[in-house]
Amino acid sequence: MLNIKFKLDKNYMALCRCKVHPPQNIENYPNHVQPDGYPNTSSICGKGGCDDAGLIWLTRVEYGQFLNGTTILSFATNVTKVKVQQV
Ligand SMILES: [Zn+2]
Repeated sequence: MLNIKFKLDKNYMALCRCKVHPPQNIENYPNHVQPDGYPNTSSICGKGGCDDAGLIWLTRVEYGQFLNGTTILSFATNVTKVKVQQV
């Protein structure tokens, strides 16, 4: 059971997508926040062929962490993390 939960969590982690290219499975990403410096940010939409500034789309769990003060968020790989603006 723990392994299954871990896999599900890894499948649904923050995504960086612009306003025009929200996540396809939007039901898993009900909220988005702005990366530090947005729209002059190094966080660029992950959609192929798009070079626009990205928003950080969060799962419900991640958004709860954000509301509790977390501003450094992880993507599904450890290649990088993103810092977001606290509202
Ligand atoms: Zn885009």
